[in-house]
Amino acid sequence: MSEIENNLSIVRNEIAAACQRASRDVNSVNLIAVSKTFPDEAVREAFHAGQILFGESKIQEAEPKIFNLPGNLQWHFIGRVQRNKVRKLIQLFDVIHAIDSLRLATYTNEIAKELGIFPKIFLQVNIGEENSKGGYDPNTLRLEMEDLLKLPQLEILGLMCIPPLGPDAEAARTWFIALRQLQESLEIEFNVRIPALSMGMSGDFEVAIEEGATHVRVGSAIFGNRSYRVDGELG
Ligand SMILES: *Cc1c(COP(=O)(O)O)cnc(C)c1O
Repeated sequence: MSEIENNLSIVRNEIAAACQRASRDVNSVNLIAVSKTFPDEAVREAFHAGQILFGESKIQEAEPKIFNLPGNLQWHFIGRVQRNKVRKLIQLFDVIHAIDSLRLATYTNEIAKELGIFPKIFLQVNIGEENSKGGYDPNTLRLEMEDLLKLPQLEILGLMCIPPLGPDAEAARTWFIALRQLQESLEIEFNVRIPALSMGMSGDFEVAIEEGATHVRVGSAIFGNRSYRVDGELG
């Protein structure tokens, strides 16, 4: 068994165990293998071990990978979204995780209309209200939600967060709970279903699942440590 295959099976077992603790169906959790900084070959290995969803955070790096690898992989863009990259992003990726303003959403809607496509998106929430991080502050999201829901080309799957760095996985729990509570309150206030929560990474995906994550973004626990930094929020 290759190392990636082995890691994947460990992560899958941990996901299953977390689901069991939370009395959740294991199929309610989507594992996104975050392949940023890793070569095509690593992605291919994971794919051969049954992994379908992959996450990338830089378009320049992702574009050749997406073209080189089999067409039945699904790609999630988890990086910061730059306005001038939107046209390319929504054509290359199945899901965009980090839409964080009405202005950006409106622009994405416009381009999608032009292209005749219906991008699936997450709204990123800056749940710890940190200056260094992208994402909506929760109050602004509430103020813009009604207009966001009116954008006909965008399918809002749910909310995404990257919680403040803490000493251990347990420290992230309060942030995951806060994101779920925001989801629940938006659903009631706007009478809509916002079904998904993208939260949890290598260090804390089990806690995220216990608190309702539907999409976990796991990189290093599958592919190993990243050997160089990518610019953006996370290395
Ligand atoms: C890199 C990255 C991840 C994966 O991080 P790991 O700690 O390697 O699992 C998850 N989410 C985002 C937004 C990232 O940029």
